Amino acid sequence: MATQLQIARTGTISDEVKFVADVENVDAELIRENIAAGRLVIPANKLHLKTNLRPTGIGRVITTKVNANIGTSSVRCSVESELEKMRAALDAGADAIMDLSTGGNLDEVRQQLLAQCLVPFGTVPIYQMIVDRNVEDIDGEVILKVIEKQAEQGVDFFTIHAGVLREHLPLLENRIAGIVSRGGALLAKWMLYHNKQNPLYEMFDDLCDILAEYDVCFSLGDGLRPGAIADATDKAQIAELRTLGELTARAQEKGCQVMVEGPGHVPFDQIQYNMQIQQEICHGAPFYVLGPLVTDIAAGYDHITSAIGGTAAAFYGASFLCYVTPKEHLGLPDADDVRAGVIAAKIAAHAADIARGLKGAAERDKKLSAARTNLDWQTHLGESLDPQTAERMHRQACREIGVEELPSADYCSMCGKAWCSVRINKEIREAIKKQDAAKK
Ligand code: SF4
Repeated sequence: MATQLQIARTGTISDEVKFVADVENVDAELIRENIAAGRLVIPANKLHLKTNLRPTGIGRVITTKVNANIGTSSVRCSVESELEKMRAALDAGADAIMDLSTGGNLDEVRQQLLAQCLVPFGTVPIYQMIVDRNVEDIDGEVILKVIEKQAEQGVDFFTIHAGVLREHLPLLENRIAGIVSRGGALLAKWMLYHNKQNPLYEMFDDLCDILAEYDVCFSLGDGLRPGAIADATDKAQIAELRTLGELTARAQEKGCQVMVEGPGHVPFDQIQYNMQIQQEICHGAPFYVLGPLVTDIAAGYDHITSAIGGTAAAFYGASFLCYVTPKEHLGLPDADDVRAGVIAAKIAAHAADIARGLKGAAERDKKLSAARTNLDWQTHLGESLDPQTAERMHRQACREIGVEELPSADYCSMCGKAWCSVRINKEIREAIKKQDAAKK
């Protein structure tokens, strides 16, 4: 039972590679080659594949993917509400789900979510390691037990913060926001208390063995990602990235698929450099970024700040965007926040795919533009990234102009009938056609 990476290295095209190639409308050999080179991953736990997983590829030669984080907290903890959030994310087009639950029965929440999750499903196992114990009490046995348990449940990718090292901690001295990653902060606390190296780093080979057995993909966590614009691209972030590069090579050597996680809060002008340096240091492994958020001052609108950064990131090198919801920094998102976050990230991903000239990326745009020009509202609304919202807004506009049926509206409340350039254009085109016909 080999991993997708090991299979690809033998030159074989697996069923999962075929599936991804069909969905992406590319040659299966291109997918295989990129997996073999460590530049593309298909996070697909063998056990999740046996139940309901539809394989998804993540890499630069195919469309940019979007992840939605959901999960309970100690304050709000209901499986039903997490299922509702997952449904909202998938309806809005999320390509992957991460369960970041920290409240309630984590095994139960995960199991119920996985049972209904058709897309790659990720977790951050260290969260479960501190259930009912202090972080200082985590030991090797606890680490292996939790990771094995979650792999057995069918989790497809794990965020593993193995790159935060003891020697990186003094580099944080001048930071404004310190460590904002929960996993990074917990491990830093553990290292300071025990005066020892990060246990996930020390046990990395053992972790590789478990992940390879189930083909769980590594998502090497950026525990020292900047959480403020002023901290971006600092020594601590780059030092950790260098360790992530070393771990990428080690995990791939052991047959594991690897993605690398990235920042965070990054000013727009530093995004290109951040993408390039990751690709260089981490041997082209798919880059999975949180945002990046291009300003710190948009509380309540951070789905927008991250979409701006996400477009640039996906244009310059990222393959996978983690969404950010409007509630970022403010509270636990609900289903509406999840929906808004996914749509914003989908816009960012799609805009980047068009700009980098990905084959077929602009076809849907062309179709929608033609429909818009022809006042074909049904196609216009249906091809939108968020048809539900588009239709609700258009129905409201129709009521304002006294039109009941959507297809019959030949203008909207924005400009009014006499000023509707789309309608006027249609009339001009029809008049020219008539004149041309008369001349023949
Ligand atoms: S009224 Fe204005 S906004 Fe509405 S369809 Fe016509 S041109 Fe477009």
